[in-house]
Amino acid sequence: MAIVNMKELLINAQQENYCIGAFSIANMEMIMGALKAAEETRSPIILQIAEVRLKYSPLSLIAPMMIEGARHAEVPVAVHLDHGESLDTIEEALTLGFTSVMYDGSHLPIEENIKNTKKVIAMAKKYGAAVEGEIGIIGKKEDGSGDGESLITRVEDAKKFYDETGVDALAIAIGNAHGVYTSAPNLNFTRLKEISTSIKVPLVLHGGSGITEEGFKESIEYGIKKINVATATFNSVVKSVDKLFKSSNTVDYFTYHNNVIEAAYENIKKHIKIFGSYNKA
Ligand SMILES: [Zn+2]
Repeated sequence: MAIVNMKELLINAQQENYCIGAFSIANMEMIMGALKAAEETRSPIILQIAEVRLKYSPLSLIAPMMIEGARHAEVPVAVHLDHGESLDTIEEALTLGFTSVMYDGSHLPIEENIKNTKKVIAMAKKYGAAVEGEIGIIGKKEDGSGDGESLITRVEDAKKFYDETGVDALAIAIGNAHGVYTSAPNLNFTRLKEISTSIKVPLVLHGGSGITEEGFKESIEYGIKKINVATATFNSVVKSVDKLFKSSNTVDYFTYHNNVIEAAYENIKKHIKIFGSYNKA
């Protein structure tokens, strides 16, 4: 097993009706926790980082760790750039060896979104990498900032976008939002079903933190094949570290270090089980 193209993971998931978790990481410890969870559950996973997070985890440093981690994993792992905003960053990720990239042109008029997505697809093709696009506006930005504005994806827009671009994965907005939900999300499963019956592309659900187990399962049943989990992992790490420091006046650095790995591992393992990808490696 090794580093793989995201497209093949999603096609397998589509055929067997399960979902691949795309887990956002910010450092080596979280990468180690994610890989440990994937290997223990014999699950394929996607390791990802969003462009907006690169100010904390520089791409030139984090990318080699993600890629080497994937290459040496005992299970298939795709390495993905989440919410690519600039073509320069997307190209840099591809040059470094990412096996898929997302171009997020969801805030642009659809024609411009299509035009830019096609440019990214042409670029990714040279590297044999997959491309995820987005249509409709998912509430808030990846880092939880923004006013929470969201726009449910229209079926005709999703169809037009897919027909004209041929993306490998498509993120849609069905009432999901990034960051922490202020009230329980009300996912529009009717719209999800309409979109998944009109186009055959694997659909992606962003803003997986705070969706219930039933919500996840229903989403997967109706066509979601990649779910992004970021905030839930970051929060579980913070909570665990907080508990560790409150439990003792003297915490050894490496106890803290292992705590980060374990907290990421626990949260990711929990999601792999819900997503149904265990034993699919
Ligand atoms: Zn997202």
